[in-house]
Amino acid sequence: RTEQAGLGEVMVFRPELQQQSHQHLRLAKQLRQALIRNELVLHYQPLVGLENGELRGAEALIRWPRDGVMVPPGEFIPVAESSGLIIQLGEWVMQQACRQIADWQSRGLDLPYVAVNVSAHQFRHPDFVRHVEKALIASPLSRDRLMLEITENIVLDDIDRTSALLQQLLMRGVSAAVDDFGVGYSSLNYLRKLPVQAIKIDRSFLQGIPQEQEAMSVMSTIITLGHDLGLRVVAEGIETVEQQLFLSRKGVNCGQGWLFSKAMSAADFEAWMLKNQERLARTQALAS
Ligand code: C2E
Ligand code: MG
Ligand code: MG
Ligand code: MG
Repeated sequence: RTEQAGLGEVMVFRPELQQQSHQHLRLAKQLRQALIRNELVLHYQPLVGLENGELRGAEALIRWPRDGVMVPPGEFIPVAESSGLIIQLGEWVMQQACRQIADWQSRGLDLPYVAVNVSAHQFRHPDFVRHVEKALIASPLSRDRLMLEITENIVLDDIDRTSALLQQLLMRGVSAAVDDFGVGYSSLNYLRKLPVQAIKIDRSFLQGIPQEQEAMSVMSTIITLGHDLGLRVVAEGIETVEQQLFLSRKGVNCGQGWLFSKAMSAADFEAWMLKNQERLARTQALAS
């Protein structure tokens, strides 16, 4: 049974729906407590250059360790959104990510940038720019170290307002990428007007690559579109060497995926950074 009535389906009262909202409320209550107790953590997934695997940045991904089990964000971000907790949660994520990258910077671990996911409710909040500024004042970063990932639904909700906000942020050195690019809407026209610097192609587009000709055609077209508009094109969900090679040949120079690493705790990410630096130094020494 699906949770929501689909098109043409009739909504009838179903006990499992009540059950679901009961669970929803419980989850919201637990999440609120976790926020108060500071129990949420950020994990970081490396973004790497596809030719040599050098570190280009990281995406901050929230994790909720509850009773020893990690609750995936897909389960609690929707709850955070519908309960309004997303504002508080989003502020925390922004502050924590800035704090972390500033800390790494002060210890000589130079991360080019950290990307933070922003949900629609958060972006539309009247204090959003102030929240970003607050995080940057608490942990001053060099310019361009913070990138926001916004989804197509945010963009299309009100393109003029979105553009104006992104412009304001850009003046403060904060860049933006369209996340999960390609899954939401068929309209591509908005991309021309939007002050974003990158698109992150949704990982669903990598499925079937490199076996299926159609999948490769669609992917190639998106890449060309991004490049023609002068945007940085980032691929997510790279799981195989074949996918890495395909993207690299198509001129995508940056990506993330399990092929390189899953998202890791800050401590593990730090160890990964050092190991990756050593690996690069070794290959460079071999090449010269
Ligand atoms: P996203 O922003 O598109 O993040 C990429 C997701 O793909 C992450 O899932 C990541 O772990 C996963 N991924 C990366 N590489 C691979 C791969 O090679 N294979 C596969 N199968 N998956 C890969 P995650 O961490 O479960 O996050 C899911 C979504 O939850 C994110 O999608 C984002 O929309 C949302 N999210 C995560 N953290 C935050 C946050 O701090 N704030 C907000 N508002 N949303 C967040
Ligand atoms: Mg993202
Ligand atoms: Mg994404
Ligand atoms: Mg996604």
